[in-house]
Amino acid sequence: MAKRKLTGHQVRRIQQSRTARREAARERIDRQLDEGDGKSLGPETRGIVITSFGHTLVVEGGDGTLQRCVARRTLETPVCGDRVFWQTSTETEGVIVALEHRRSILARPDHSRRSKPLATNIDQVLVVIAPRPEPSEALVDRYLAAVEAMGVEALVVLNKTDLLQDPVNDPLLKRLAVYENVGYPVVQISTKTGEGLAALGKAMRRGTGILLGQSGVGKSSLVKALLPHQEIAIRAISQTTGLGTHTTTNATLYHLETGGDLFDSPGVRSFEPALTADQVASGYLELAPFLGHCKFSNCSHTAEPQCALKQAVEAGKVDRRRFSRFLDLQAQAGLRDELKYPL
Ligand code: GDP
Ligand code: ZN
Repeated sequence: MAKRKLTGHQVRRIQQSRTARREAARERIDRQLDEGDGKSLGPETRGIVITSFGHTLVVEGGDGTLQRCVARRTLETPVCGDRVFWQTSTETEGVIVALEHRRSILARPDHSRRSKPLATNIDQVLVVIAPRPEPSEALVDRYLAAVEAMGVEALVVLNKTDLLQDPVNDPLLKRLAVYENVGYPVVQISTKTGEGLAALGKAMRRGTGILLGQSGVGKSSLVKALLPHQEIAIRAISQTTGLGTHTTTNATLYHLETGGDLFDSPGVRSFEPALTADQVASGYLELAPFLGHCKFSNCSHTAEPQCALKQAVEAGKVDRRRFSRFLDLQAQAGLRDELKYPL
């Protein structure tokens, strides 16, 4: 018999009743655990949350098996990337009972402007740019400052090298040399010709990476190149959750064939980070030796005499354009800090 197509209303009703059943199950499990009846649950097992859908979390065990779980309500909500301990509660569902310490947190303000974790335990952020659309270095700087605030590594990825007019002396390469001087590796790739993809794969072996960058630079193309079998992983997740393939839009952790992991979330790829004035200051690594050495402790590094930062720029120790972007970002962030508006 042909499958009947459900209307949007019917799908929503089914999802609502599923959610209600799951909530009831969570309450029951919480009660059991509170009453010291945790023994009715299976033994504690370690795993990683590789994606979530509503309250349903998909946990991967060390052997690669996937398990559908809910979290104890007393726990901070687990997100993609979290290392967890879970126990089986029913034949098909587990319950997450503990969360391990998060090495790093990628957060974004939610509707009420509270910082909400999107993914954890990221090791490396790949800031993707391209000759077209015209790169915004102010945005690259903001990404890099956000990466510093997260305390993880950053890599600048220049995609679409096939569009460079001159592969050696293109003016864009000169602009990017500034980042290399500061200490950020710049990897050149083309998802169209395949150039540099092997080198990028090697650089990603060390941990879990995530792609960020403005729309149109080629992030989806790069995900396709890095994860040629992404569909298979997505299908396995859908089978585990029983929720259909719409889980693809959620943050998901994928294993790369060449080693390392990629955290991917189409919704997050082009998000623009919020920064405080302090985060902006510590986001410009090359300024660190000079900060705090100005004549005036409240120096705004604009018109004051004996400003250590301006002197460093004059002496050629700090790139003039990056410094000017620093001042702009700092002014914007300062204004937001004053208004207590964290966006
Ligand atoms: P996203 O918005 O960052 O995810 O970018 P997409 O992956 O959707 O790519 C935007 C456009 O750039 C598409 O038309 C791609 O075909 C194109 N594109 C991606 N990578 C390359 C590349 O290496 N070279 C060229 N010339 N075009 C590319
Ligand atoms: Zn100063």
